[in-house]
Amino acid sequence: MLNPQQSFVGPLLAWHEENGRHRLPWREPGRSAFEILIAEILLQRTTAASVSGAYLPIVARYPSPETVVAASPEAIERRIAPLGLAKRAEFIRRTSQQLIARHSGDVPRRYADLLELHGVGDYTARSVLIHAFDEDIAAVDTNVRRLISRFFDLPPDSEVLPHLADALAPSRRGSDFQHAMLDFAADVCTARTPQCETCPFGEHCRSSERAV
Ligand code: SF4
Repeated sequence: MLNPQQSFVGPLLAWHEENGRHRLPWREPGRSAFEILIAEILLQRTTAASVSGAYLPIVARYPSPETVVAASPEAIERRIAPLGLAKRAEFIRRTSQQLIARHSGDVPRRYADLLELHGVGDYTARSVLIHAFDEDIAAVDTNVRRLISRFFDLPPDSEVLPHLADALAPSRRGSDFQHAMLDFAADVCTARTPQCETCPFGEHCRSSERAV
């Protein structure tokens, strides 16, 4: 019998190499921790498609907390408002002020410090640790929760899920694994019409909802 690394993580990473959304601008190699933090704030409760149009102009104009704080709040808001993200301008401005005041303008590497930033909750803090600092942990949103709960046939609201996701994160590939879970849940293991017949690990999936 295969272990979860063989039955789930390995096939998921292989699927992602072929099919992942590698062109999303915040996933480009070399993005700074601040640029990753900005992306995660913009992505809260917003689709990647909506954010991708706004992201590059924002990080080009405001690549650091200092540049954010030096700008007028209205200037940042003007760049975000057309995408329905106006409130995030305030999050970005207040977070930048905190980074300068408490962390010399750097994004902190400690979970507890990240959580104290304005607009940063558990998912965003974990995402920054994963993508900016290569931590081998997972961030569980609704889509990731659905995927893992189905594959392991656990209740979607199980408290075990985040711990299981952390344990699955492969060494030195936490960022790839997180992106793979997000993309797979959005494209294949969807909420309403999961594509179980073409799922690369369908034979190992324990979901009672499996459509094959
Ligand atoms: S077999 Fe279906 S329910 Fe199971 S992980 Fe694949 S797409 Fe999701």
